[in-house]
Amino acid sequence: MTRPCDALPPVRGTYTHGAPLKDLVWFRVGGPAEVLFRPADADDLATFLAARPCDMAVTVIGVGSNLLVRDGGIPGVVIRLPAAFSKIIVDGTRLRAGAAALDSAAARTAADAGIAGLEFLRGVPGTVGGALRMNAGCYGSEVKDILVECTAIDGTGAKQIWTSAQMGFSYRHCAVPDDVIFVEALFEGMRDEPAAVRARMEQLLGRREGSQPVRSKTGGSTFKNPPGHKAWQLISDAGCRGLKVGGAQVSEMHSNFLINTGDARAADIEALGEEVRARVKAKFGIVLEWEIRRVGVP
Ligand SMILES: Cc1cc2nc3c(=O)[nH]c(=O)nc-3n(C[C@H](O)[C@H](O)[C@H](O)COP(=O)(O)OP(=O)(O)OC[C@H]3O[C@@H](n4cnc5c(N)ncnc54)[C@H](O)[C@@H]3O)c2cc1C
Repeated sequence: MTRPCDALPPVRGTYTHGAPLKDLVWFRVGGPAEVLFRPADADDLATFLAARPCDMAVTVIGVGSNLLVRDGGIPGVVIRLPAAFSKIIVDGTRLRAGAAALDSAAARTAADAGIAGLEFLRGVPGTVGGALRMNAGCYGSEVKDILVECTAIDGTGAKQIWTSAQMGFSYRHCAVPDDVIFVEALFEGMRDEPAAVRARMEQLLGRREGSQPVRSKTGGSTFKNPPGHKAWQLISDAGCRGLKVGGAQVSEMHSNFLINTGDARAADIEALGEEVRARVKAKFGIVLEWEIRRVGVP
């Protein structure tokens, strides 16, 4: 495995060696990136991917609202798309959004332009890139319903267009290879009055604030809902609500959320998640699948 210090290609963006990631992710835990790369633009990202040794590990992150970075950090190069990738442009009932744009910004821009259908994104605290990778969704809508196509750069630096049908979307999953980095999405909604769209958006936001610990250090829903079940219900009925390991706790408010109560290590959060899985398996024979992506080394 080629280490970044030996072979970082020249770029226009910035490299930071040993960059702390804690402050870049919602859980506020985890070790550093061996190298953090912020590309200047999509061409710079493509240049990097084409020129790096093919065995150099590359991990892309959004704003880390679905990520548990382990305490040993992430070896290789971690890519975080900067503000240059966050433009949002409206064209009729379509909206073109850079992968670093926040989902909430995309939803608000759509509402102001009188485009309905993106309201659900208002409460998803990630980026457009993370939403594409995770097929983010809530309250009966998901990215697959509004995506026309997206632009991406693959692991060799080649630009690609993926149509919605090619993405292989399923519940909190897309089948696009892991080395593909999304740089832009084209969404389509329907014409409506801005005030009506805004009202629906605020209603969804209100529902969320009443039921989820949205101001905590958390990674959102920890486990996928198993077919025919709600993960939170299984976790609660297995007696895990409020359960603690070190500084990590199962939320009292929403039992599918794990929380860093202040001084948790990533290892506490992961161990707590595994304890929850073991208790649910023992009580119901159901194996919970992690929705949160765990990255890096322990
Ligand atoms: C309070 C809270 C509430 C939440 N509610 C919801 C909800 O209602 N519905 C829902 O679906 N999710 C929810 N989440 C989870 C999370 O917000 C989503 O999964 C979101 O889409 C992740 O986006 P991100 O930018 O934070 O990605 P990250 O967490 O940084 O990364 C997630 C995955 O996406 C990949 N990725 C990120 N950017 C790119 C890119 N440009 N190209 C390719 N891959 C990329 C990463 O490699 C990683 O595998 C919630 C999280 C929190 C903390």
